[in-house]
Amino acid sequence: MWIVPESVISELITPEASFDAVESVFGAMASGDAYNFPVVREAIGHEDALYGFKGGFDQSGLVLGLKAGGYWPNNLEARGIINHQSTVFLFDPDTGKAKAMVGGNLLTALRTAAASSVSIKHLARKDARVLGMIGAGHQSHFQLRAAVKHRPFEKVVAWNYHPDMLPKLGETAAELGLPFEAVSLEDLGAQADVIISITSAFAPSLLDAHVTEGTHLACMGTDTKGKQEVEAALLARAVVFTDEVAQSISIGEAQHAVAEGLIAEADVHQIGAVINGAHPGRSSDAEITIFDGTGVGLQDLAVAQAVVDIAVEKGVAIEVDF
Ligand code: NAD
Repeated sequence: MWIVPESVISELITPEASFDAVESVFGAMASGDAYNFPVVREAIGHEDALYGFKGGFDQSGLVLGLKAGGYWPNNLEARGIINHQSTVFLFDPDTGKAKAMVGGNLLTALRTAAASSVSIKHLARKDARVLGMIGAGHQSHFQLRAAVKHRPFEKVVAWNYHPDMLPKLGETAAELGLPFEAVSLEDLGAQADVIISITSAFAPSLLDAHVTEGTHLACMGTDTKGKQEVEAALLARAVVFTDEVAQSISIGEAQHAVAEGLIAEADVHQIGAVINGAHPGRSSDAEITIFDGTGVGLQDLAVAQAVVDIAVEKGVAIEVDF
């Protein structure tokens, strides 16, 4: 069995490799070659933590496993470590033997950023120039870095529930050579061609009335029952895509619009179908598109498998007799 510790992963995997792994596994999900297992996600009643498992099997790539972990909201302030903590376990699909244990924290950020940027590549208007960011936590920096590779953005506008976190996101924008402006949600909606939301909110910040025609939104924060980032009515006005329909309507952003009867399960489309050419994606420059990125186990397994292959090749994977 191979162990690839968290500490070496940044030297091994690139955002580009993560993007390719995620785009390809989304395609495999839509063609039926790969499937995710039902998600377990529990409030454990300790440290306000949400803990769970996301697993799946990619029959085409023969990748089987799960990610265990979750979200500990007090980590950063109390312990100086990031709030999201996870580990990926890979198994040999021929025998069931454990194959690898891989640090999942950086991989989670990279695969989540890859997912929203896959949606930008396939769904945003080609002439998108202003990127709106809602959220300024750990993930938001990865989201911003990944997004700018897929459209020639000229400016970033941002809003966060905790405004004191915005200057740090501004530094990331500056590193990327982009002007950055902290704005109201009204302004953000008016200016942005693409909006990424990545917060831990349980109530909508962005309202239907804030969003203008032709916007593409990647709603990335809602991955648990009860969470919500945008008003449900916005999903009824948009064409909604997701990584995994079952997750989107139960733990994703679409859970609220479906529960309120504003959209049906059949209105939520797999992004993989767009990647494979089975769905046309955006149909006009006026259409609002939403990607409900719930985060699937197969994304984690895809990037973890890529990292194990590189780590073994470079001789940095630790081999244990297990
Ligand atoms: P973080 O703790 O570093 O940042 C949290 C963000 O949410 C900050 O911007 C904060 O200001 C904002 N926020 C907190 N309370 C809020 C409220 N009541 N209303 C609006 N905004 C609020 O967290 P992070 O690591 O950046 O992760 C952000 C979210 O993304 C988490 O909810 C996490 O579960 C989710 N996430 C989703 C995926 C996925 O695949 N979809 C992957 C990783 C993380």
